[in-house]
Amino acid sequence: MDSDSAPVHGPIAGTDIADVAGGTDTVLLDVDGTLVDSTYLHALAWARAFGAHDLTPPWWRIHRTVGMGGDLLVGEVCGEDVEDRLGDRLRSDWADRYRELLPEVRPLPGAPELVDAIRSAGLRVALASSGAAEFTDAALDILGMTRDDFAAVTSAEDVDRSKPHPDILGTALEAAGGEHALLVGDTVWDVESAARLSAACVAVRTGGFSEAELREAGAVLVVDDIGVLAQRGWRGVSG
Ligand SMILES: [Mg+2]
Repeated sequence: MDSDSAPVHGPIAGTDIADVAGGTDTVLLDVDGTLVDSTYLHALAWARAFGAHDLTPPWWRIHRTVGMGGDLLVGEVCGEDVEDRLGDRLRSDWADRYRELLPEVRPLPGAPELVDAIRSAGLRVALASSGAAEFTDAALDILGMTRDDFAAVTSAEDVDRSKPHPDILGTALEAAGGEHALLVGDTVWDVESAARLSAACVAVRTGGFSEAELREAGAVLVVDDIGVLAQRGWRGVSG
């Protein structure tokens, strides 16, 4: 592995964001697993929702599918027959279970700092989550932030198709008034949705995907978390 593609695990100066994603005017931030440490709680909520219907998919498969929208996750994990039969019921059950787990969701370090760094560099910053608006607002509370901290906040209800379709990113970019997006996300579904919008994706490892998977999916940079990213050079990105 040469130095240009070497992993960055600490707050080391090195690759500026502009080096991997120049020409961006808007940074779109994923929420779950990127700004808040909720990935495994989402997996738990889904496992409990599935279990209530005597469905026992393996945990790894649930975990690897979190980050995809709930409209797609059921079919991906349990098959289209289950989606057809129980999809809406499972999503409702999942929401109830996840709501119970919200007090356990913790912020990942660095969200306010990252938003400050991006805005200070003259870029727009918007939220682009596959999750429900209710849970995006809960995440903002957990972060001590508000919708006013962002140029736009887009959630699952704002589009017909969630990640890995690019609709959420496109809607967030337009709502923010930008033209060229960079996505910060934690899953291969984020990377895929960004690619479909011809946008670069910087990936964080806080969703539990490996660096190799994220790079293979096409992430232009992989760092441990947004705290690391907040310390990278954002000036010159809009170049
Ligand atoms: Mg995520």
